[in-house]
Amino acid sequence: MKDSHGRKIDYLRISLTDRCNFRCIYCMPEEGVCPMSHDEILSLEEIERLVRVAAKHGIKSVRLTGGEPLVRKGVEDLVAALTGIDGIENISMTTNGVLLPKMAETLKTAGLNRVNISLDTLDQDQFREVTRVGKLEDTLAGIDAALEVGFDPVKVNAVTVRRLDQDLLGFAKLSIDRPLHVRFIEYMPVGQDAGNGLAGWGQGDVISSQELLERINADAKAEGMEPLAPADKNPLGWGPAKYMAFPGAKGTVGFISPLSRHFCSECNRLRLTADGKIRPCLFSDTEYDVREALRAGDDDRVAACLMEALGAKPDEHHDKVGTERNMSAIGG
Ligand code: SAM
Ligand code: SF4
Repeated sequence: MKDSHGRKIDYLRISLTDRCNFRCIYCMPEEGVCPMSHDEILSLEEIERLVRVAAKHGIKSVRLTGGEPLVRKGVEDLVAALTGIDGIENISMTTNGVLLPKMAETLKTAGLNRVNISLDTLDQDQFREVTRVGKLEDTLAGIDAALEVGFDPVKVNAVTVRRLDQDLLGFAKLSIDRPLHVRFIEYMPVGQDAGNGLAGWGQGDVISSQELLERINADAKAEGMEPLAPADKNPLGWGPAKYMAFPGAKGTVGFISPLSRHFCSECNRLRLTADGKIRPCLFSDTEYDVREALRAGDDDRVAACLMEALGAKPDEHHDKVGTERNMSAIGG
């Protein structure tokens, strides 16, 4: 599939649910989202049908996300079903990691190839502040479980927010002794009209990747460490990150800059929301409803909807970012 700007689109991010066992302050309101009803949300069979059609049109990679994908009942069966679809070459997941100690083995056996685990702070109290309900040790145990069962690569995604004043070097050091790929992601002021409780958070909280790199290297120097240098090799599925590494480290440190460095020209993705809307761009609220076509079992209409969304992919995102839905509903 090529979009109208000549970009090859072969990657689909699927939100399995808008529900979550955390309540991260930048992602959803304190009381949680008003959950989509059972009828609104796509069944696992409907998701499988959509992926089958999408694979025929060139989608090769699928990422399962949410909300928290591991709270969706039957997620292991979905992974197994997607693995069997001709043309799907890899299946990955973005998760907060809490349920990985219980589920990692089954997911690996079902065919999940790789995981990204979200972790924004290494400080217990701040972890509770950011996730509102989570425990740092649970996510750390999820990272251990992912490495133990052999997911490769295992990436750790940290959203950087200026007012959180995170221990950037501490994060970067996670990449030294174990094959962990730490990625710093700029905070995106998405969903602010959807009540995610971030009054006052905005552009001032975005720390550019350049500044992050400079700060990490200054802190490393103060500890007598060598600075980060461009990595020899990018981890698989490197996407839009720029990768660096400490000399001799087993993992890498990546910087993803959706705001300070638009990577729209490299965009290869479409998104499917949990309630069956195809979203051409994370930053635009334009969506195309594919649920009715899926429920009617009409694969031609499903394909037509995919093509319509593809045709509507903007060349780049502009200053206004989509704000009507939280990241948990879009599938971040
Ligand atoms: N629950 C899973 C998790 O947290 O990994 C998957 C869904 S979550 C919406 C996916 C990613 O989006 C997480 O890494 C999260 O940190 C990120 N995210 C959520 N809101 C964000 C925002 N406003 N700016 C940047 N990243 C955000
Ligand atoms: Fe849940 Fe992930 Fe959103 Fe945090 S970022 S509330 S873990 S969906």
